[in-house]
Amino acid sequence: MSNVRFKTMEQMPLEMHKVKIVQKLNLLPVEERLKAIQEAGSNTFLLQNRDVFMDMLTDSGVNAMSDRQQAAMMVADDSYAGSETFTRLSKVLKDIFGMDMFLPAHQGRACENIISQAMVKKGTFVPMNYHFTTTRAHINLNGGTVLELIADKGLETTSEEPFKGNMDLDRLKKSIQKVGKGNVAFVRMEAGTNLIGGQPFSLENLEGVSSICKENGISLVLDASLLADNLYFIKKREEAYKDSSIREITAKMASLCDIIYFSARKLGCARGGAILTRDKELFNRMKGLVTLYEGFLTYGGMSVREMEALTVGLEETMDEDMICQGPDFIQFMVNELKKRGVPVITPGGGLGCHINAMEFVNHIPQSEYPAGALASALFIAGGIRGMERGTVSEDRDADGNEKHADMELVRLALPRRVFTLSQVMYAVDRITWLYENREMIGGLEFTEEPAILRFFFGRLQEKGDWQERLAEKFRKDFGDSL
Ligand SMILES: *Cc1c(COP(=O)(O)O)cnc(C)c1O
Repeated sequence: MSNVRFKTMEQMPLEMHKVKIVQKLNLLPVEERLKAIQEAGSNTFLLQNRDVFMDMLTDSGVNAMSDRQQAAMMVADDSYAGSETFTRLSKVLKDIFGMDMFLPAHQGRACENIISQAMVKKGTFVPMNYHFTTTRAHINLNGGTVLELIADKGLETTSEEPFKGNMDLDRLKKSIQKVGKGNVAFVRMEAGTNLIGGQPFSLENLEGVSSICKENGISLVLDASLLADNLYFIKKREEAYKDSSIREITAKMASLCDIIYFSARKLGCARGGAILTRDKELFNRMKGLVTLYEGFLTYGGMSVREMEALTVGLEETMDEDMICQGPDFIQFMVNELKKRGVPVITPGGGLGCHINAMEFVNHIPQSEYPAGALASALFIAGGIRGMERGTVSEDRDADGNEKHADMELVRLALPRRVFTLSQVMYAVDRITWLYENREMIGGLEFTEEPAILRFFFGRLQEKGDWQERLAEKFRKDFGDSL
């Protein structure tokens, strides 16, 4: 939030916007919540949205647009070639990132397909701070290997480390030496590192990575999908930049990279994707792939209306008052849960609040999917849809053995500008109630288990009848209220 201080109350996040359009929500009685989650095979991906009160599954494509974004959609120029919309978007991208070549794509993973096809050869390596699911898949598909070089501090669940997304520079140097710089396809830095909880890197760290890349003649690629949060954290947590504007920090970051790409489902609160560079040779390598996979170079699979919304959304990303909402709300939620003894990942990141299921339900063995069980219990307790990020999200190995995840997390995403503070407090209340009744939560087992990406469509069931008993306990504690 802006520099606003509360005088008579405890400090809390303050929205620097007001609500102009709303969507009505339903909160089902607990008996119907129980029925809905069981019909969904205890998998929150399979719930119907009409049964969900707070949809905290993801921040992708579900962020609230501003009035100016909505208004811009009306002036979109729907021509196949020479579109004014494309010109407007290109100009804003150049203003913000200082890169004059721009390729559009339909979403983030489409950018990854193009970049990987153009740059990853069989047997090459891609060092990065941490992988994202679709990124690693595209690199592997092209015969490359990901080298994960996150600093050790990044993987500590409870910590005060402000930049858990930092790359270990020493390991980067050693890795390049080991595989040979000619075998490094590119180095990738991910802003707001998604899979470790939306954790940022520091600008100092990016500078270090960039100079190692330059010394070795290797391209540096920035995944800027979660850039907005990372920018805000640099401004708030990195002493050297506390007086810089968001625009200055962005320009500095961009000057260190050779390629920037992003999912506009997150950055810019719209839908789509973009690849930027100032390297003509790289641009030409990727250009043909865009026309082949995405569409003509002036839209790349995006709707022109979304492109207009993105143009405005990117401008708004340069406004601290607009990008503070997500990180500030998440920090608030993390603090409130911590106060109540609930195990959460700290410090708060930029994507959502992450509950540590390994501790929350430490009586459930990993073979019975603690994070999956907790996600289903949270839906029963409050109609809240989170995402399992644990062993269910891993697939079995080639021999059919279960691979236990490093962490068992329930991710509660806070799509940007979507929820109010009272809704966040409702979630805190239900999670706290669940924590007090955690002994009642039991394990899950698969009834239908797809071989790949089982977390999307797999169906599970409770072991025993703990879900029914949890719903009964809720009824007893809450009387006839919802
Ligand atoms: C979401 C995301 C992607 C993929 O973007 P999509 O638009 O979902 O294809 C890539 N990288 C990061 C860091 C992301 O968060």
